[in-house]
Amino acid sequence: MTDCLFCKIVAKEIPAEIVYETDRTLAFRDINPQAPTHVLVIPKAHHANAAALAEADDGLADDVLKATHAVAVQEGVAESGYRVVFNTGAGAGQTVFHVHAHVLGGRGLNWPPG
Ligand code: 5GP
Ligand code: ZN
Repeated sequence: MTDCLFCKIVAKEIPAEIVYETDRTLAFRDINPQAPTHVLVIPKAHHANAAALAEADDGLADDVLKATHAVAVQEGVAESGYRVVFNTGAGAGQTVFHVHAHVLGGRGLNWPPG
């Protein structure tokens, strides 16, 4: 999608600190980190949100989840614990409508989230 911020990051038209990449996924540091580790994991293909990703009938959601785990291991938070968040819809705080998993870790995380 031409007007999508994260499609532009996939296309390397906008810079990002990429930490992990596969043929179908990309992971890069959040520009406004909320924890010592705050990485966004996206499918390279454009899907608006987690609901659309769930309906992508080609194992893409599986790839994204596996990529979150690989990032957690690489970032050294897999043992201490980390959180994977898909804000889905504006009412849940989604602001960029290219699905992304937030991978948060490196500090204590409260529950319930705000
Ligand atoms: P959402 O609110 O949609 O769940 O999350 C969007 C996230 O994208 C936010 O945490 C925000 O800080 C991050 N973000 C917005 N613009 C950019 C950008 O240009 N580069 C990077 N790396 N992150 C961004
Ligand atoms: Zn997009």
